[in-house]
Amino acid sequence: MLEKILSAEDCARCEFCCSFRRQSLNLTPCFDKENVEKISRMYPEARFKTLPDGAVTIDLDDKYHTDDREEEALCYFNRKGCILPEDLKPFDCKLWPFRLMKNGDGLSLALVPSCPWIRKDDTSKLREVAAFVAQEAKEYAKDHPEIITEYRDDYTVICERC
Ligand code: SF4
Ligand code: SF4
Repeated sequence: MLEKILSAEDCARCEFCCSFRRQSLNLTPCFDKENVEKISRMYPEARFKTLPDGAVTIDLDDKYHTDDREEEALCYFNRKGCILPEDLKPFDCKLWPFRLMKNGDGLSLALVPSCPWIRKDDTSKLREVAAFVAQEAKEYAKDHPEIITEYRDDYTVICERC
């Protein structure tokens, strides 16, 4: 969704958003349930799990080698960039570094501050695409409410009630 402002080369060098600390496992992406069977056939080594709210995400438990909560594990589908075809890639990943977030009794588009590229940017380019991204995200969330995150004050609201 952000191809115009975020280069694949920059992301391939970074990989931050495809790598998950044990303590951040609630941030692993939600996959479309209808795609999981197909992805499992293509990549049988990948493990998935269903969360209490019914969302399906990757199960990285076997990829950690220590009990250190700071240890990082890379998503099964990152090989110097995401290898999933666009139609099977989680919407969460297409949306990153934006998140659709509960905010009072409405929804806001928010930015996750941990993307190093975002920290470098003055957000002006992101604001240009924010309204479009928010509409796409809200449309998708009608059938996939699991992509909506709880309010977090460490996220930057970039489009309030847009
Ligand atoms: S954290 Fe940001 S710069 Fe790094 S791979 Fe993800 S989107 Fe790209
Ligand atoms: S599905 Fe692709 S983009 Fe999403 S976390 Fe895994 S490797 Fe990264």
